[in-house]
Amino acid sequence: MLHRLTISELTARLARREVSARDAMQACLDQVARVDGDIKAFISHNPADALAQADAADKSIAAGADFSAQPLLGVPIALKDVLAVKDQPLNCCSKILGSFVSPYDATVVTRLKAAGAVIFGRLNMDEFAMGSSTENSAFQTTRNPWDTSRIPGGSSGGSAAAVAADECIASLGSDTGGSIRQPAALCGVVGMKPTYGRVSRYGLVAFASSLDQIGPFTKDVRDAATVLEVISGHDPRDATSIPQPVPRYTQALTGDIRGLRLGLPKEFMVGGLDPEVKRAVDAAVTHLQSLGATVQEVSLPHTDHDVAVYYIIATAEASANLARFDGVRYGARVEGADPLEMYGNTRGAGFGAEVKRRIILGTYVLSSGYYDAYYLRAQKVRTLIRQDYLRAFEQVDAIVTPTTPTPAFRLGEKSGDPLQMYLSDIFTIGCNLAGIPGLSLPCGFASNAERGTGNAKLPIGLQLLGKPFGEETLLRLAHAYEQSTPWHREKPSLHAS
Ligand code: GLN
Repeated sequence: MLHRLTISELTARLARREVSARDAMQACLDQVARVDGDIKAFISHNPADALAQADAADKSIAAGADFSAQPLLGVPIALKDVLAVKDQPLNCCSKILGSFVSPYDATVVTRLKAAGAVIFGRLNMDEFAMGSSTENSAFQTTRNPWDTSRIPGGSSGGSAAAVAADECIASLGSDTGGSIRQPAALCGVVGMKPTYGRVSRYGLVAFASSLDQIGPFTKDVRDAATVLEVISGHDPRDATSIPQPVPRYTQALTGDIRGLRLGLPKEFMVGGLDPEVKRAVDAAVTHLQSLGATVQEVSLPHTDHDVAVYYIIATAEASANLARFDGVRYGARVEGADPLEMYGNTRGAGFGAEVKRRIILGTYVLSSGYYDAYYLRAQKVRTLIRQDYLRAFEQVDAIVTPTTPTPAFRLGEKSGDPLQMYLSDIFTIGCNLAGIPGLSLPCGFASNAERGTGNAKLPIGLQLLGKPFGEETLLRLAHAYEQSTPWHREKPSLHAS
């Protein structure tokens, strides 16, 4: 049962030498073998390499390693297929990268390794992180562990499902418009997007560079604080990473949230919000009040424009970032009579439909004549959106919202309708546009009446948004809420489909 433990539970047992890192790694590998045929969170993993890393961790533990210096020693952690790990395949779940193998470690990977983590497995995602359901992967479709007829969310669907199904102890994902928080909410785990600049993106394949951040998926809030502390910090190799000291995030978990001021944005109580989601979020707000927080309404008047602004800025940046996949520098190539034809053949065959849609949209909004009408205007509205948040944070310490408008939807339900898919991100996108930190944690369940082979209930996520570099406040609030509610202890019962 070691695969079911949290980081803090596992490291406590490792430190007392009650269990070995090899046993913990083996338990996760066994769980992958048992359930991943149904869940399909992993694209690939290398059991022999994972066990060798675990053995190395056991050696350090036997030699008296210091867990305060290496807080992830012996902990099995899996990564979204968008993060570079030296000598491992890196595909972004796209065909265009072919048999590309990463020549170096991402900075977050260097930091995880220094903290003693056992890094195993590549996790499924929407191709180049474009999507909200993981159905845009070129490789496979991940299923929600609570109901395998439903999506796990996206784009980091593999990262969320793997943690929810106890196939790893924690994972990393990336969040450009909600790709950590939305799948975390739909799979019933904790997911956190740090402040823009908090975590280095060196070695993260870029989607939209002014929005992308890396963050953790964990089974509880304490673990999120532990992983965040490890991966945060300035990195000269990412010019957007901010040279600000990293707090001891785990020390923020005091349990005391008395006097913290919470804001409820009136613009978020929109039509289309599922009544069970609304009920759970209202109850969570009442609960936070009972713990001593105060609640007031705030206004984010430009919220209406979030989705439009995001899909202009994100596609514009994606069209530029993805220009590098040309058949010359990385991965796959489809030959042609001349270089131009070769580029076209390679990109035509290598990119999936959603990625092509975004490149075309992005190229259009950047093209001469349309740049001012779309891109420049979107940048201006983005500034207004950020100002709305900063103004709200003059009155409150954190903003509370649902993470998603509905619980997990069915496979195929929105994949034919890009606009419906884009609208499933309405509550998460503002956070990226504003560059602020956001966290999603479980806050209850919706009934799953037509459950088929699934569980009778589906997880609901509560989103907490904070000031720039306000991660400690978010973690403190989330921890106090979690520790006084039962949700995070619930596990899906995994049925074979
Ligand atoms: N669902 C959003 C999109 O499709 C967000 C993706 C992300 O955060 N990577 O762009």
